[in-house]
Amino acid sequence: MARKPILAGNWKMNMDHLEANHLVTSLGAALADLGYDPEKSEAVVIPPFTDIRTVQTVIDADSLPIAYGAQDVSTHDEGAYTGDISTGMLTKLGCAYVVVGHSERREYHGESNELIGEKAKKILDAGMLPIICCGEALEVRKEGKHVEFVLGQIDAMLANLTAEEVAKSVIAYEPIWAIGTGETATADDAQEVCGAIRVRVGELFDEETAEAVRIQYGGSVKSGNVKEIMGKPDVDGALVGGASLKADEFAKIVCFDLI
Ligand code: PEP
Repeated sequence: MARKPILAGNWKMNMDHLEANHLVTSLGAALADLGYDPEKSEAVVIPPFTDIRTVQTVIDADSLPIAYGAQDVSTHDEGAYTGDISTGMLTKLGCAYVVVGHSERREYHGESNELIGEKAKKILDAGMLPIICCGEALEVRKEGKHVEFVLGQIDAMLANLTAEEVAKSVIAYEPIWAIGTGETATADDAQEVCGAIRVRVGELFDEETAEAVRIQYGGSVKSGNVKEIMGKPDVDGALVGGASLKADEFAKIVCFDLI
């Protein structure tokens, strides 16, 4: 079965709730202007927690063809975890996706592959889908060890998931040196690692799971380079940071096959 491309905009710590309202409304209009067909690709926005209710309200009110999710989640259900947000809180807000293991969470919050795997399981148990991030730093790439490094992350993060769970998950390959730097991996670089991840999923689980799992590339994706990246056989989407903060630009990325 063909994998539906998934283009997700990670807003990071940007946009207050008024700006979020404006951005998602404008995105809906920009997608309509471009003739966006939700059967052909999936548009997802990942706002900060404080904007989720606003985004939900705008999307529901106008029946916009946009899914949404969160940037992180707790492994706990409730209780004395100041500052944390549970899966139950996110499902009540209609979230479909949760990003886990973004390199910024790994770097600033010390998140390990094991914790990220635990979060992914929790998200799946709650009926949402994880966008599980991986990617190497520049030093690792310079040593030529990027594939080995990323596959090590994959092994650890997927260790406690079933084949069925992995098949519906999304994996985002984001080389850290390409995030927010304007430095994009070439389409061939993206394919090399995304292809290796798919092979590893086949080895860890089975062929059916490898064929089903969607693998995104992330790192300075823009409307000008998305088409080439999406042309690679093992790249099923993009996780987009900076360019997702501009409605017209992100709409073009979502509609990469029309531009
Ligand atoms: C990201 O934060 O996941 C990302 C890929 O950012 P950018 O598109 O700005 O490089």
